[in-house]
Amino acid sequence: MGCEAQPKILYVEDNRDNQRLVQRVLGARGYHVLVAEDGATGVALAQELRPALVLVDLGIPGLDGYEMATRLRGLKHLDGVPIVALTADSTPGARERALVAGCDGYLLKPIDTRLLPQQVAEFIGGKREQLAAHTDTTDLLRAYNQKLVERLEQRVRELTRANAEVQELDRLKGQFLATLSHELRTPLTALMGYLELFGRGMLGELTPPQREAIAVMRRSGELLARQLNNLLYFQELRGRSFTPRLVRPLELLQPLLVGIEERARQAGISFELVCAGAAPIALDPIGFEQLVHSLLDNSLKFTPAGGRVRLALRDEPARLILRVEDSGSGIASEFLEKIWLPFYRVEPTASQPGAGLGLAIVRHVVEGHGGHVSVRSVPGRGSAFTVVLPRNPAPEG
Ligand code: ADP
Repeated sequence: MGCEAQPKILYVEDNRDNQRLVQRVLGARGYHVLVAEDGATGVALAQELRPALVLVDLGIPGLDGYEMATRLRGLKHLDGVPIVALTADSTPGARERALVAGCDGYLLKPIDTRLLPQQVAEFIGGKREQLAAHTDTTDLLRAYNQKLVERLEQRVRELTRANAEVQELDRLKGQFLATLSHELRTPLTALMGYLELFGRGMLGELTPPQREAIAVMRRSGELLARQLNNLLYFQELRGRSFTPRLVRPLELLQPLLVGIEERARQAGISFELVCAGAAPIALDPIGFEQLVHSLLDNSLKFTPAGGRVRLALRDEPARLILRVEDSGSGIASEFLEKIWLPFYRVEPTASQPGAGLGLAIVRHVVEGHGGHVSVRSVPGRGSAFTVVLPRNPAPEG
Protein backbone atom coordinates (compact mmCIF):
# COMPACT_ATOMS: atom_id res chain seq x y z
CA MET A 1 0.00 0.00 0.00
CA GLY A 2 1.36 3.47 -0.87
CA CYS A 3 1.85 6.07 1.92
CA GLU A 4 -0.80 8.32 0.38
CA ALA A 5 -3.64 5.89 1.07
CA GLN A 6 -2.59 5.19 4.68
CA PRO A 7 -4.11 7.25 7.51
CA LYS A 8 -1.41 9.55 8.86
CA ILE A 9 -0.59 9.62 12.56
CA LEU A 10 1.62 12.38 13.90
CA TYR A 11 3.57 11.13 16.91
CA VAL A 12 5.32 13.80 18.98
CA GLU A 13 7.93 12.10 21.12
CA ASP A 14 11.64 12.62 21.80
CA ASN A 15 12.40 9.10 23.00
CA ARG A 16 13.80 7.01 20.14
CA ASP A 17 12.71 3.64 21.57
CA ASN A 18 9.12 4.79 21.92
CA GLN A 19 9.21 6.30 18.44
CA ARG A 20 10.33 3.00 16.93
CA LEU A 21 7.85 0.98 18.98
CA VAL A 22 4.82 3.06 17.98
CA GLN A 23 5.97 3.18 14.36
CA ARG A 24 6.24 -0.60 14.30
CA VAL A 25 2.99 -1.33 16.09
CA LEU A 26 0.85 1.16 14.17
CA GLY A 27 2.77 0.68 10.92
CA ALA A 28 1.86 -3.01 11.02
CA ARG A 29 -1.81 -1.97 11.13
CA GLY A 30 -1.58 0.18 8.03
CA TYR A 31 -0.95 3.58 9.61
CA HIS A 32 1.72 5.92 8.35
CA VAL A 33 3.41 7.25 11.51
CA LEU A 34 5.34 10.51 11.22
CA VAL A 35 7.49 11.59 14.12
CA ALA A 36 8.23 15.04 15.52
CA GLU A 37 10.88 15.37 18.24
CA ASP A 38 9.49 18.45 19.96
CA GLY A 39 6.33 20.50 20.32
CA ALA A 40 7.17 23.31 17.89
CA THR A 41 8.02 20.82 15.12
CA GLY A 42 4.86 18.92 16.01
CA VAL A 43 2.70 22.03 15.52
CA ALA A 44 4.38 22.80 12.19
CA LEU A 45 3.98 19.22 10.94
CA ALA A 46 0.36 19.00 12.09
CA GLN A 47 -0.47 22.13 10.09
CA GLU A 48 1.31 20.81 7.03
CA LEU A 49 0.04 17.22 7.13
CA ARG A 50 -3.37 17.47 8.73
CA PRO A 51 -3.02 13.95 10.20
CA ALA A 52 -5.91 11.69 11.14
CA LEU A 53 -4.70 11.74 14.76
CA VAL A 54 -1.99 13.38 16.87
CA LEU A 55 -0.37 11.28 19.56
CA VAL A 56 1.65 13.41 21.91
CA ASP A 57 3.97 12.65 24.79
CA LEU A 58 3.25 15.27 27.45
CA GLY A 59 6.89 15.62 28.57
CA ILE A 60 8.42 16.64 25.23
CA PRO A 61 11.06 19.41 25.18
CA GLY A 62 10.33 23.06 24.36
CA LEU A 63 6.61 23.53 23.88
CA ASP A 64 5.30 20.68 26.07
CA GLY A 65 2.45 18.32 25.22
CA TYR A 66 -0.20 20.38 27.06
CA GLU A 67 0.85 23.58 25.30
CA MET A 68 0.99 21.84 21.99
CA ALA A 69 -2.56 20.53 22.43
CA THR A 70 -3.76 24.04 23.34
CA ARG A 71 -2.03 25.48 20.28
CA LEU A 72 -3.46 22.85 17.91
CA ARG A 73 -6.95 23.36 19.32
CA GLY A 74 -6.68 27.00 18.27
CA LEU A 75 -6.15 26.07 14.61
CA LYS A 76 -9.42 26.05 12.73
CA HIS A 77 -8.36 23.66 9.99
CA LEU A 78 -7.41 21.03 12.59
CA ASP A 79 -10.91 21.02 14.05
CA GLY A 80 -11.99 17.46 14.62
CA VAL A 81 -8.47 15.96 14.55
CA PRO A 82 -8.16 13.99 17.82
CA ILE A 83 -5.18 14.79 20.05
CA VAL A 84 -4.29 11.94 22.35
CA ALA A 85 -1.86 12.33 25.24
CA LEU A 86 0.56 9.51 25.94
CA THR A 87 2.20 9.80 29.33
CA ALA A 88 3.67 8.01 32.30
CA ASP A 89 2.06 10.54 34.65
CA SER A 90 -0.71 8.74 36.51
CA THR A 91 -0.96 11.17 39.44
CA PRO A 92 -4.46 12.31 40.38
CA GLY A 93 -5.63 15.21 38.23
CA ALA A 94 -3.09 14.57 35.43
CA ARG A 95 -5.74 13.27 33.03
CA GLU A 96 -8.05 16.22 33.76
CA ARG A 97 -5.21 18.67 33.15
CA ALA A 98 -4.54 17.11 29.74
CA LEU A 99 -8.22 17.24 28.76
CA VAL A 100 -8.55 20.85 29.89
CA ALA A 101 -5.48 21.77 27.82
CA GLY A 102 -7.19 20.42 24.70
CA CYS A 103 -6.44 16.69 24.55
CA ASP A 104 -9.23 14.29 23.55
CA GLY A 105 -7.77 11.23 25.21
CA TYR A 106 -5.23 10.10 27.75
CA LEU A 107 -3.24 6.87 27.31
CA LEU A 108 -0.86 5.70 29.98
CA LYS A 109 2.67 4.46 29.42
CA PRO A 110 4.15 1.91 29.17
CA ILE A 111 2.48 1.52 25.80
CA ASP A 112 0.25 -1.51 25.62
CA THR A 113 1.14 -2.71 22.15
CA ARG A 114 -1.87 -5.03 21.94
CA LEU A 115 -4.35 -2.29 22.76
CA LEU A 116 -2.82 0.71 21.01
CA PRO A 117 -4.08 0.08 17.44
CA GLN A 118 -7.61 -0.42 18.74
CA GLN A 119 -7.41 2.74 20.91
CA VAL A 120 -6.12 4.78 17.99
CA ALA A 121 -8.88 3.46 15.71
CA GLU A 122 -11.52 4.42 18.29
CA PHE A 123 -10.28 8.01 18.52
CA ILE A 124 -10.12 8.30 14.75
CA GLY A 125 -13.65 6.86 14.69
CA GLY A 126 -14.91 9.69 16.90
CA LYS A 127 -14.30 8.69 20.50
CA ARG A 128 -13.62 11.64 22.83
CA GLU A 129 -12.90 11.36 26.54
CA GLN A 130 -14.94 13.75 28.69
CA LEU A 131 -14.30 15.32 32.06
CA ALA A 132 -16.53 13.94 34.82
CA ALA A 133 -19.69 16.01 35.26
CA HIS A 134 -18.73 17.27 38.73
CA THR A 135 -15.23 18.48 37.65
CA ASP A 136 -14.50 22.11 38.49
CA THR A 137 -13.10 23.22 35.12
CA THR A 138 -12.67 26.85 36.24
CA ASP A 139 -10.18 25.76 38.88
CA LEU A 140 -8.37 23.50 36.43
CA LEU A 141 -8.20 26.22 33.81
CA ARG A 142 -6.95 28.77 36.33
CA ALA A 143 -4.18 26.40 37.46
CA TYR A 144 -3.27 25.67 33.84
CA ASN A 145 -3.19 29.39 32.97
CA GLN A 146 -1.04 30.04 36.00
CA LYS A 147 1.43 27.41 34.84
CA LEU A 148 1.49 28.87 31.34
CA VAL A 149 2.20 32.36 32.63
CA GLU A 150 4.99 31.05 34.86
CA ARG A 151 6.57 29.28 31.89
CA LEU A 152 6.20 32.41 29.79
CA GLU A 153 7.78 34.53 32.48
CA GLN A 154 10.72 32.16 32.73
CA ARG A 155 11.17 32.20 28.92
CA VAL A 156 11.08 36.01 28.85
CA ARG A 157 13.73 36.10 31.54
CA GLU A 158 15.90 33.60 29.65
CA LEU A 159 15.51 35.48 26.37
CA THR A 160 16.28 38.84 27.98
CA ARG A 161 19.44 37.36 29.47
CA ALA A 162 20.43 35.70 26.18
CA ASN A 163 19.81 38.96 24.32
CA ALA A 164 22.02 40.90 26.72
CA GLU A 165 24.74 38.29 26.20
CA VAL A 166 24.45 38.53 22.42
CA GLN A 167 24.71 42.31 22.59
CA GLU A 168 27.77 42.11 24.78
CA LEU A 169 29.38 39.56 22.45
CA ASP A 170 28.57 41.80 19.49
CA ARG A 171 30.23 44.73 21.24
CA LEU A 172 33.31 42.62 22.00
CA LYS A 173 33.42 41.39 18.41
CA GLY A 174 33.30 44.99 17.20
CA GLN A 175 36.09 45.95 19.56
CA PHE A 176 38.15 42.96 18.50
CA LEU A 177 37.70 43.73 14.79
CA ALA A 178 38.61 47.36 15.29
CA THR A 179 41.76 46.47 17.26
CA LEU A 180 42.70 43.77 14.78
CA SER A 181 42.34 46.02 11.75
CA HIS A 182 44.32 48.83 13.42
CA GLU A 183 47.07 46.39 14.38
CA LEU A 184 47.21 45.03 10.84
CA ARG A 185 47.10 48.40 9.17
CA THR A 186 50.15 49.81 10.92
CA PRO A 187 52.65 47.22 9.60
CA LEU A 188 50.86 47.20 6.25
CA THR A 189 51.48 50.92 5.83
CA ALA A 190 55.23 50.37 6.32
CA LEU A 191 55.22 47.44 3.87
CA MET A 192 53.35 49.42 1.24
CA GLY A 193 55.66 52.39 1.69
CA TYR A 194 58.76 50.30 1.01
CA LEU A 195 57.13 48.51 -1.92
CA GLU A 196 56.35 51.90 -3.38
CA LEU A 197 60.00 52.95 -3.02
CA PHE A 198 61.12 49.71 -4.69
CA GLY A 199 58.54 50.20 -7.44
CA ARG A 200 59.84 53.67 -8.19
CA GLY A 201 63.39 52.39 -8.33
CA MET A 202 64.44 54.48 -5.35
CA LEU A 203 66.13 51.59 -3.57
CA GLY A 204 68.29 50.52 -6.49
CA GLU A 205 67.73 49.22 -9.99
CA LEU A 206 65.42 46.22 -10.31
CA THR A 207 65.45 43.48 -12.91
CA PRO A 208 62.16 43.05 -14.89
CA PRO A 209 61.12 39.91 -12.92
CA GLN A 210 61.78 41.77 -9.65
CA ARG A 211 59.67 44.71 -10.86
CA GLU A 212 56.89 42.31 -11.79
CA ALA A 213 57.08 40.65 -8.34
CA ILE A 214 56.94 44.06 -6.62
CA ALA A 215 53.88 44.99 -8.71
CA VAL A 216 52.10 41.80 -7.64
CA MET A 217 52.96 42.49 -3.99
CA ARG A 218 51.63 46.02 -4.27
CA ARG A 219 48.35 44.86 -5.81
CA SER A 220 47.88 42.31 -3.03
CA GLY A 221 48.78 44.92 -0.42
CA GLU A 222 46.22 47.33 -1.87
CA LEU A 223 43.57 44.64 -1.74
CA LEU A 224 44.40 43.93 1.88
CA ALA A 225 44.33 47.65 2.70
CA ARG A 226 40.89 47.95 1.07
CA GLN A 227 39.54 45.07 3.13
CA LEU A 228 40.95 46.57 6.31
CA ASN A 229 39.49 49.97 5.44
CA ASN A 230 36.09 48.39 4.92
CA LEU A 231 36.34 46.67 8.26
CA LEU A 232 37.43 49.81 10.06
CA TYR A 233 34.89 51.97 8.31
CA PHE A 234 32.12 49.51 9.11
CA GLN A 235 33.01 49.46 12.81
CA GLU A 236 33.20 53.23 12.84
CA LEU A 237 29.89 53.62 11.01
CA ARG A 238 27.98 51.74 13.64
CA GLY A 239 28.82 54.28 16.25
CA ARG A 240 28.61 57.57 14.41
CA SER A 241 26.11 59.74 12.58
CA PHE A 242 26.72 61.34 9.20
CA THR A 243 27.76 64.94 8.71
CA PRO A 244 26.43 66.05 5.34
CA ARG A 245 27.92 69.02 3.53
CA LEU A 246 27.20 70.42 0.11
CA VAL A 247 29.28 68.56 -2.49
CA ARG A 248 29.36 68.12 -6.25
CA PRO A 249 29.06 64.32 -6.55
CA LEU A 250 31.03 64.01 -9.75
CA GLU A 251 33.94 66.08 -8.47
CA LEU A 252 33.96 64.13 -5.23
CA LEU A 253 34.06 60.82 -7.09
CA GLN A 254 36.75 61.85 -9.58
CA PRO A 255 39.78 60.26 -7.83
CA LEU A 256 37.80 57.06 -7.20
CA LEU A 257 36.66 56.88 -10.83
CA VAL A 258 40.22 57.17 -12.12
CA GLY A 259 41.12 54.04 -10.14
CA ILE A 260 37.95 52.23 -11.23
CA GLU A 261 38.61 53.00 -14.92
CA GLU A 262 42.10 51.62 -14.56
CA ARG A 263 40.87 48.44 -12.85
CA ALA A 264 38.20 47.94 -15.51
CA ARG A 265 40.76 48.40 -18.28
CA GLN A 266 43.09 45.83 -16.70
CA ALA A 267 40.21 43.37 -16.27
CA GLY A 268 39.02 43.79 -19.86
CA ILE A 269 35.67 45.26 -18.76
CA SER A 270 34.15 48.29 -20.44
CA PHE A 271 33.30 51.02 -17.94
CA GLU A 272 30.84 53.76 -18.78
CA LEU A 273 29.90 56.85 -16.81
CA VAL A 274 26.56 58.42 -17.65
CA CYS A 275 25.86 61.69 -15.95
CA ALA A 276 22.67 63.67 -16.31
CA GLY A 277 23.12 66.58 -13.97
CA ALA A 278 24.72 65.74 -10.62
CA ALA A 279 24.10 69.17 -9.12
CA PRO A 280 25.43 69.95 -5.62
CA ILE A 281 23.77 67.94 -2.87
CA ALA A 282 24.24 67.63 0.89
CA LEU A 283 26.08 64.35 1.56
CA ASP A 284 28.58 62.88 3.96
CA PRO A 285 31.55 62.84 1.56
CA ILE A 286 33.37 59.86 3.05
CA GLY A 287 30.19 57.81 3.32
CA PHE A 288 29.13 58.62 -0.23
CA GLU A 289 32.52 57.79 -1.68
CA GLN A 290 32.58 54.51 0.25
CA LEU A 291 29.08 53.64 -0.99
CA VAL A 292 29.93 54.20 -4.66
CA HIS A 293 33.22 52.41 -4.23
CA SER A 294 31.53 49.33 -2.74
CA LEU A 295 28.99 49.10 -5.56
CA LEU A 296 31.55 49.56 -8.34
CA ASP A 297 34.04 47.25 -6.63
CA ASN A 298 31.40 44.50 -6.57
CA SER A 299 30.44 45.06 -10.20
CA LEU A 300 34.05 44.76 -11.28
CA LYS A 301 34.60 41.70 -9.09
CA PHE A 302 31.57 39.82 -10.36
CA THR A 303 31.81 40.72 -14.04
CA PRO A 304 34.04 38.63 -16.30
CA ALA A 305 36.36 40.02 -18.97
CA GLY A 306 34.42 41.31 -21.97
CA GLY A 307 31.56 42.48 -19.74
CA ARG A 308 30.17 45.94 -19.03
CA VAL A 309 29.88 48.12 -15.91
CA ARG A 310 27.97 51.37 -15.94
CA LEU A 311 27.57 54.13 -13.38
CA ALA A 312 24.72 56.56 -13.97
CA LEU A 313 23.95 59.70 -11.96
CA ARG A 314 20.69 61.48 -12.53
CA ASP A 315 19.28 64.60 -10.90
CA GLU A 316 15.65 64.90 -9.98
CA PRO A 317 14.24 67.99 -8.26
CA ALA A 318 14.03 66.34 -4.87
CA ARG A 319 16.59 63.55 -5.15
CA LEU A 320 19.73 62.17 -6.70
CA ILE A 321 19.49 58.78 -8.37
CA LEU A 322 22.60 56.69 -8.67
CA ARG A 323 22.63 53.42 -10.54
CA VAL A 324 25.38 50.84 -10.87
CA GLU A 325 24.72 48.19 -13.51
CA ASP A 326 26.82 45.30 -14.64
CA SER A 327 26.60 42.38 -17.03
CA GLY A 328 28.18 40.04 -14.47
CA SER A 329 27.26 36.81 -12.70
CA GLY A 330 24.04 38.18 -11.17
CA ILE A 331 22.53 37.06 -7.87
CA ALA A 332 19.90 34.34 -7.43
CA SER A 333 16.64 35.70 -6.04
CA GLU A 334 16.86 33.70 -2.79
CA PHE A 335 19.99 35.70 -1.81
CA LEU A 336 18.71 39.16 -2.65
CA GLU A 337 17.61 39.90 0.92
CA LYS A 338 20.62 38.39 2.65
CA ILE A 339 23.38 40.13 0.67
CA TRP A 340 22.80 43.28 2.73
CA LEU A 341 23.73 41.55 5.99
CA PRO A 342 27.19 42.27 7.42
CA PHE A 343 29.68 39.49 6.56
CA TYR A 344 27.21 37.70 4.28
CA ARG A 345 28.62 36.33 1.04
CA VAL A 346 26.88 34.19 -1.53
CA GLU A 347 28.56 30.78 -1.45
CA PRO A 348 29.57 30.14 -5.07
CA THR A 349 31.34 33.50 -5.32
CA ALA A 350 33.22 33.08 -2.04
CA SER A 351 36.48 32.74 -3.99
CA GLN A 352 36.32 36.46 -4.80
CA PRO A 353 38.09 38.76 -2.35
CA GLY A 354 35.80 40.45 0.12
CA ALA A 355 34.59 40.28 3.68
CA GLY A 356 30.88 40.65 2.94
CA LEU A 357 30.79 44.22 4.25
CA GLY A 358 30.40 46.28 1.06
CA LEU A 359 26.63 46.16 0.78
CA ALA A 360 26.12 46.46 4.55
CA ILE A 361 28.06 49.72 4.32
CA VAL A 362 26.03 50.80 1.29
CA ARG A 363 22.76 50.24 3.08
CA HIS A 364 23.94 51.93 6.25
CA VAL A 365 25.14 55.03 4.40
CA VAL A 366 22.03 55.27 2.22
CA GLU A 367 19.65 54.90 5.14
CA GLY A 368 21.73 57.31 7.21
CA HIS A 369 20.98 59.89 4.49
CA GLY A 370 17.26 59.13 4.55
CA GLY A 371 17.43 57.35 1.20
CA HIS A 372 16.92 53.81 0.02
CA VAL A 373 18.68 51.24 -2.11
CA SER A 374 17.31 48.39 -4.19
CA VAL A 375 18.67 45.68 -6.41
CA ARG A 376 17.46 43.85 -9.48
CA SER A 377 19.45 40.92 -10.71
CA VAL A 378 19.23 38.06 -13.16
CA PRO A 379 21.65 35.18 -12.61
CA GLY A 380 24.03 34.91 -15.53
CA ARG A 381 22.87 38.26 -16.96
CA GLY A 382 23.90 40.91 -14.44
CA SER A 383 22.76 43.18 -11.62
CA ALA A 384 21.54 46.73 -11.19
CA PHE A 385 21.76 48.57 -7.86
CA THR A 386 19.73 51.77 -7.55
CA VAL A 387 20.39 54.28 -4.81
CA VAL A 388 17.97 57.12 -4.18
CA LEU A 389 19.21 59.99 -2.00
CA PRO A 390 16.89 62.83 -1.01
CA ARG A 391 18.21 66.35 -1.52
CA ASN A 392 17.03 67.42 1.92
CA PRO A 393 17.57 64.39 4.08
CA ALA A 394 15.40 64.10 7.16
CA PRO A 395 17.59 64.50 10.26
CA GLU A 396 18.77 61.15 11.56
CA GLY A 397 16.54 59.59 14.19
P1 ADP B 1 31.75 41.31 -0.63
O1 ADP B 1 32.84 41.95 0.13
O2 ADP B 1 31.74 39.84 -0.53
O3 ADP B 1 31.67 41.81 -2.04
P2 ADP B 1 29.22 42.65 -0.28
O4 ADP B 1 28.46 42.93 0.97
O5 ADP B 1 29.62 43.81 -1.08
O6 ADP B 1 30.45 41.79 0.15
O7 ADP B 1 28.36 41.68 -1.19
C1 ADP B 1 27.76 40.52 -0.62
C2 ADP B 1 27.59 39.46 -1.69
O8 ADP B 1 26.62 39.89 -2.65
C3 ADP B 1 28.84 39.20 -2.50
O9 ADP B 1 29.67 38.26 -1.86
C4 ADP B 1 28.27 38.67 -3.80
O10 ADP B 1 28.01 37.30 -3.68
C5 ADP B 1 26.95 39.41 -3.94
N1 ADP B 1 27.07 40.57 -4.86
C6 ADP B 1 27.16 41.87 -4.51
N2 ADP B 1 27.22 42.66 -5.62
C7 ADP B 1 27.18 41.82 -6.68
C8 ADP B 1 27.21 42.02 -8.10
N3 ADP B 1 27.30 43.25 -8.64
N4 ADP B 1 27.14 40.92 -8.90
C9 ADP B 1 27.03 39.69 -8.36
N5 ADP B 1 27.01 39.44 -7.03
C10 ADP B 1 27.08 40.49 -6.20
